[in-house]
Amino acid sequence: MRRNIVVGNWKMNNTIAESIELATAIAEKVGAAKPDCEVGIAPTFPALHEVGKALEWSGVKLAAQNCHYENDGAFTGEVSTRMLAAAGCSYVILGHSERRQLFGETNEVVNRKVKKALAEGLRVILCVGETLDERERGVTEEIVTAQVAEGLADVSDITELVIAYEPVWAIGTGKTASKEQAQEVHASIRGTIERLYDEQAAKHLRIQYGGSVKPGNAAELFGMPDIDGGLIGGASLKVDDFMAIVEAAG
Ligand code: PEP
Repeated sequence: MRRNIVVGNWKMNNTIAESIELATAIAEKVGAAKPDCEVGIAPTFPALHEVGKALEWSGVKLAAQNCHYENDGAFTGEVSTRMLAAAGCSYVILGHSERRQLFGETNEVVNRKVKKALAEGLRVILCVGETLDERERGVTEEIVTAQVAEGLADVSDITELVIAYEPVWAIGTGKTASKEQAQEVHASIRGTIERLYDEQAAKHLRIQYGGSVKPGNAAELFGMPDIDGGLIGGASLKVDDFMAIVEAAG
């Protein structure tokens, strides 16, 4: 059985003090609720270490929102996987559509990051998803399959990997994929993993849905057979909304 996983992506929100306050509130509620699902939060880089300390006792995992694929050196503004691991991160989110669209990350760059993060012992949440134009042109499956295959090129072991399917048109827009639309793409991703790896790998892979998940739609999405929790943006900044989503996941 796959264990659902819910991760809050805080994006570029919250100062260090605000992050500690929000993380502490989430840690307390998760500690009291003891959900069956795995829970994580991804604050900004400056807040990682302090938030990690606030989460330590609670079992809530610390995630980073990005990384570089080199260990160190002349890469102004970048942060390496080695630094993230030392800051207490267990997960790193890679290939988020905002990184792809606003910062020009290609499948090749994402693949370098995936390989580096896994080699460093971090777990990876690999984000994939089509734009509205791609959906309307009927190439969703083609685009998502390429993102998965190219993002995982030369990755032999995906035990520590989670995939997040996030249709770009549903991120931060209030538009959610219907549970059937999401399930269709999740099933296709699982099929791709079976072709690239094997049946066991496909069966064990957790595939989160992301894109305007809210307390009101989380349960129906997470109830679909190939949806194993969510990657949550806006709703992860409000303790009660995030907790309602965590509870919907288990
Ligand atoms: C995200 O950025 O990963 C995301 C899913 O955002 P939102 O929930 O705000 O759509």
